[in-house]
Amino acid sequence: MTLIYLFDKILLNMKIKNLALLLVLFIFQPVLIKGEKNFFEMRRQMLETQIKSRGIKNERVLNAMLKVERHRFVPEKYQRFSYEDSPLPIGYGQTISQPYIVALMTELIEPSQKDKVLEIGTGSGYQAAILAELCKEVYTIEIIPELGLKADKTIKELGYKNVKVKIGDGFFGWKEYSPFNAIIVTCASKEIPEPLIEQLAEGGRMVIPVGDYFQELILVRKIKGKIKKQKIIPVRFVPMKGEIEKIKNEK
Ligand code: SAH
Repeated sequence: MTLIYLFDKILLNMKIKNLALLLVLFIFQPVLIKGEKNFFEMRRQMLETQIKSRGIKNERVLNAMLKVERHRFVPEKYQRFSYEDSPLPIGYGQTISQPYIVALMTELIEPSQKDKVLEIGTGSGYQAAILAELCKEVYTIEIIPELGLKADKTIKELGYKNVKVKIGDGFFGWKEYSPFNAIIVTCASKEIPEPLIEQLAEGGRMVIPVGDYFQELILVRKIKGKIKKQKIIPVRFVPMKGEIEKIKNEK
């Protein structure tokens, strides 16, 4: 008798707890949804005022910039600045690039659904996620293990299945999966690493910030085995580390 009574009490207690939880969720639901809505609205504004207004036209690129939630790639304390017109710190002295620069570099490589793309400098994983929306396969290399592992986690959490992250020196590219239809380098190097030129497919496009303090975004094309370079705009990226520094010092 007492046992049944006790059992009934526990059940009632659980019901009350569950009901209380549901009630709390119900009360806060508008706040939670509003937060996501606000971020979407901020992305819509970012698209109009920073990206379309500066001449980015590729519809697929614009859609990807609207869809991918930049705030998921930014440390919590900076999340409310996610859709502002600037780079943001991601730790270890590195930054997530300004949204416009991400859109510009992505448009310049003319991404297609059939493309295999290589990125050097995974950082937060944001550029890789944009590429994952637009291309078949994305390979991305990060030299700082902590950043690479965190980016890999974020990318997996968001459900992308076509991105492979490697910890290593991007100077050497990723020969195993080459050639690549496009390469995006998101750290500045004094010269274009030779292995990256070799791993670019015929007809391939590469964007890379070249220089030291003053850098220029360069678009490289491989046409009939020959390299064509075009200056795009002055930029400011964090420097490439690793092998390239040795080459710089030898010269
Ligand atoms: N694309 C990133 C931003 C990258 S910032 C994003 O969307 O968030 C540049 C990144 O390049 C940094 O994380 C830095 O650690 C990395 N990096 C610097 N030198 C590198 C190298 N030799 N190989 C691979 N990554 C490198």
